[in-house]
Amino acid sequence: MTEADLPDAPIPETPVPDCQSCGACCSYSWEWPTLIGFGDGDGLPRHLIEDGRMRCNGNRCAALAGTIGEEVHCTVYEDRPLVCREFAAGSDDCLAVRREFGFEG
Ligand code: SF4
Ligand code: SF4
Repeated sequence: MTEADLPDAPIPETPVPDCQSCGACCSYSWEWPTLIGFGDGDGLPRHLIEDGRMRCNGNRCAALAGTIGEEVHCTVYEDRPLVCREFAAGSDDCLAVRREFGFEG
Protein backbone atom coordinates (compact mmCIF):
# COMPACT_ATOMS: atom_id res chain seq x y z
CA MET A 1 0.00 0.00 0.00
CA THR A 2 1.39 3.44 -0.88
CA GLU A 3 0.63 6.74 0.77
CA ALA A 4 -1.65 7.56 -2.16
CA ASP A 5 -3.86 4.59 -1.26
CA LEU A 6 -4.54 5.85 2.25
CA PRO A 7 -7.87 7.53 2.80
CA ASP A 8 -7.79 11.28 3.40
CA ALA A 9 -7.81 12.24 7.04
CA PRO A 10 -11.26 13.44 8.07
CA ILE A 11 -11.58 17.22 8.13
CA PRO A 12 -13.08 18.29 11.46
CA GLU A 13 -16.38 20.09 10.95
CA THR A 14 -16.90 23.48 12.54
CA PRO A 15 -20.41 23.77 13.90
CA VAL A 16 -22.45 26.57 12.37
CA PRO A 17 -23.36 29.14 15.01
CA ASP A 18 -26.98 29.52 16.01
CA CYS A 19 -28.36 32.87 14.82
CA GLN A 20 -31.21 32.80 17.33
CA SER A 21 -28.80 32.99 20.22
CA CYS A 22 -26.53 35.55 18.51
CA GLY A 23 -27.74 38.66 16.66
CA ALA A 24 -24.24 40.08 16.23
CA CYS A 25 -24.54 40.87 12.52
CA CYS A 26 -27.77 42.76 13.16
CA SER A 27 -26.07 44.91 15.77
CA TYR A 28 -22.58 45.78 14.68
CA SER A 29 -23.10 48.58 12.14
CA TRP A 30 -25.95 50.95 11.35
CA GLU A 31 -24.54 51.18 7.80
CA TRP A 32 -24.76 47.49 7.07
CA PRO A 33 -28.47 46.69 6.64
CA THR A 34 -28.80 48.77 3.49
CA LEU A 35 -31.37 48.19 0.77
CA ILE A 36 -29.49 47.52 -2.43
CA GLY A 37 -31.57 46.58 -5.37
CA PHE A 38 -34.85 46.72 -7.18
CA GLY A 39 -37.50 45.22 -4.96
CA ASP A 40 -35.21 45.01 -1.96
CA GLY A 41 -37.16 46.02 1.09
CA ASP A 42 -40.55 45.59 -0.52
CA GLY A 43 -42.87 44.48 2.23
CA LEU A 44 -40.91 46.11 5.02
CA PRO A 45 -42.88 48.48 7.22
CA ARG A 46 -42.02 52.05 6.23
CA HIS A 47 -41.25 53.05 9.81
CA LEU A 48 -38.35 50.59 9.82
CA ILE A 49 -36.68 52.20 6.78
CA GLU A 50 -34.56 55.31 7.04
CA ASP A 51 -32.35 56.78 4.29
CA GLY A 52 -32.40 53.58 2.27
CA ARG A 53 -31.44 51.40 5.20
CA MET A 54 -33.00 49.61 8.06
CA ARG A 55 -33.60 52.08 10.87
CA CYS A 56 -31.12 51.45 13.66
CA ASN A 57 -30.81 52.38 17.29
CA GLY A 58 -27.10 52.99 17.53
CA ASN A 59 -25.67 50.09 15.60
CA ARG A 60 -28.57 47.79 16.31
CA CYS A 61 -31.21 47.22 13.68
CA ALA A 62 -34.62 48.29 14.91
CA ALA A 63 -36.13 45.08 13.58
CA LEU A 64 -34.09 42.89 15.91
CA ALA A 65 -35.99 41.67 18.96
CA GLY A 66 -34.54 40.07 22.05
CA THR A 67 -31.23 40.07 23.85
CA ILE A 68 -28.04 39.80 21.81
CA GLY A 69 -26.06 36.72 22.70
CA GLU A 70 -29.04 35.12 24.40
CA GLU A 71 -32.21 34.95 22.37
CA VAL A 72 -33.02 37.11 19.36
CA HIS A 73 -35.17 37.10 16.26
CA CYS A 74 -35.72 39.28 13.23
CA THR A 75 -39.22 40.70 13.35
CA VAL A 76 -39.26 41.17 9.56
CA TYR A 77 -37.58 37.90 8.65
CA GLU A 78 -39.73 37.17 5.58
CA ASP A 79 -39.06 40.63 4.15
CA ARG A 80 -35.50 41.23 5.40
CA PRO A 81 -33.05 42.97 3.05
CA LEU A 82 -30.84 41.07 0.62
CA VAL A 83 -27.70 41.78 2.61
CA CYS A 84 -29.26 39.99 5.55
CA ARG A 85 -30.32 37.03 3.40
CA GLU A 86 -26.85 36.68 1.97
CA PHE A 87 -24.96 36.93 5.24
CA ALA A 88 -24.21 33.29 5.92
CA ALA A 89 -23.97 31.89 9.40
CA GLY A 90 -20.56 30.33 9.82
CA SER A 91 -18.94 32.44 7.08
CA ASP A 92 -15.69 34.29 7.74
CA ASP A 93 -17.62 37.57 8.06
CA CYS A 94 -20.07 36.01 10.50
CA LEU A 95 -17.27 34.67 12.67
CA ALA A 96 -15.45 38.02 12.56
CA VAL A 97 -18.55 39.90 13.71
CA ARG A 98 -19.19 37.34 16.42
CA ARG A 99 -15.65 37.81 17.71
CA GLU A 100 -16.31 41.56 18.06
CA PHE A 101 -19.05 40.67 20.51
CA GLY A 102 -16.87 38.13 22.26
CA PHE A 103 -18.86 35.15 20.99
CA GLU A 104 -16.93 32.00 20.21
CA GLY A 105 -17.14 30.02 16.98
S1 SF4 B 1 -23.33 36.90 13.21
FE1 SF4 B 1 -23.56 34.90 12.23
S2 SF4 B 1 -24.44 33.57 13.80
FE2 SF4 B 1 -24.72 35.68 14.45
S3 SF4 B 1 -26.81 36.17 13.75
FE3 SF4 B 1 -25.34 36.84 12.17
S4 SF4 B 1 -25.20 35.15 10.72
FE4 SF4 B 1 -26.13 34.37 12.60
S1 SF4 C 1 -33.61 43.22 9.04
FE1 SF4 C 1 -33.56 41.46 10.38
S2 SF4 C 1 -31.85 40.20 9.66
FE2 SF4 C 1 -31.59 42.26 8.82
S3 SF4 C 1 -30.26 43.39 10.26
FE3 SF4 C 1 -32.39 43.78 10.81
S4 SF4 C 1 -32.89 42.26 12.39
FE4 SF4 C 1 -31.05 41.55 11.29
